[in-house]
Amino acid sequence: MSRKVLVLGEVREGSLRNVSFEAISTAKTIAEGGEVVAVLVGQSVNALASEMIQFGADRAVVVEDEKLASYTSDGFSQALLAVVDQEKPDGLVLGHTALGKDLSPKLAARLQSGLISDVTAIEVAGGNIVFTRPIYSGKAFEKKVMVDPFIFATIRPNNIAPLEKDAARSGDVASLTVEIKDLRSIVKDVVRKASEGVDLSEAKIIVAGGRGVKSEDGFNPLKELATVLGAAVGASRGACDANYCDYSLQIGQTGKVVTPDLYIACGISGAIQHLAGMSNSKVIVAINKDPEANIFKVADYGIVGDLFEVLPLLTEEFKAVLV
Ligand code: FAD
Repeated sequence: MSRKVLVLGEVREGSLRNVSFEAISTAKTIAEGGEVVAVLVGQSVNALASEMIQFGADRAVVVEDEKLASYTSDGFSQALLAVVDQEKPDGLVLGHTALGKDLSPKLAARLQSGLISDVTAIEVAGGNIVFTRPIYSGKAFEKKVMVDPFIFATIRPNNIAPLEKDAARSGDVASLTVEIKDLRSIVKDVVRKASEGVDLSEAKIIVAGGRGVKSEDGFNPLKELATVLGAAVGASRGACDANYCDYSLQIGQTGKVVTPDLYIACGISGAIQHLAGMSNSKVIVAINKDPEANIFKVADYGIVGDLFEVLPLLTEEFKAVLV
């Protein structure tokens, strides 16, 4: 059965986030040969439509308004509902990002649709679209089939591969004028705490520190390794609670959920709440001086030792190969 599926392109600081391209690939699977329509909402976002098409969308609909310059669930839901009204799609895919997590329940309620959130894999089996998503804080996975005729999903960044970019691909880009009614909240300013370095939620490599780093300066050897690897720096709540770093770096049940290709845990014990945020990383390396530390149970490679001795050695080795 072929379907028409909308994909919201997520824009941050003038660029599309990778999860937008992963959402296009997800929408292609759901569409089963039907049409994938990229939707861009914001101010001056029209130029990004061609990139959505190069990553596999068939065409794009753009809603631009100065009231949409910053994300608000109020403004974006007005814009997206107008696109849904025009396009009458069979499905909608968003990233399971801060924006997607905020917007999707509101849209689902307004559309009176079900929602499958935090999807980590998608396949077609027995004539059904089967979604995989974590449950019990990532300790188990469930497979779900949506019976609602409108298929609505948010996908976890870094899990579903995007299609290859085809620079020669082209498609129609149409503007839709939507009258954005007065917003109940207005964003005056955006202050990013973790502006330095790679975005944690989309990073391919993360070097994370726990209470074992012992101080704010104790993060320096982690930052040096991260710079050489082009990695993001993350942290356990233990490190955040101890004021060694900002809470925006926290990974875990009450922090960010990440799935990088490589996760290097330094001085992190491996509490269940931390594992909930990182145990689906593709390769996990743990550095801990306690050989009994729980983190070694999920690690693919374990180094028993003092992180302040091990990290400089690793950095030197990687520098010799990569720099
Ligand atoms: P610790 O448990 O103190 O571990 C420090 C580790 O460092 C030890 O294993 C030690 O052997 C090692 N170490 C010390 N010195 C060195 C050295 N020089 N070299 C190498 N290793 C060294 N935690 C999260 O991380 N994320 C969450 O989202 C989260 N949410 C929570 C939600 C709730 C409701 C609750 C109750 C807790 C939550 N926690 C969360 C806290 C969690 O239970 C742990 O307390 C926390 O993860 C511990 O952080 P840690 O591993 O850095 O510290």
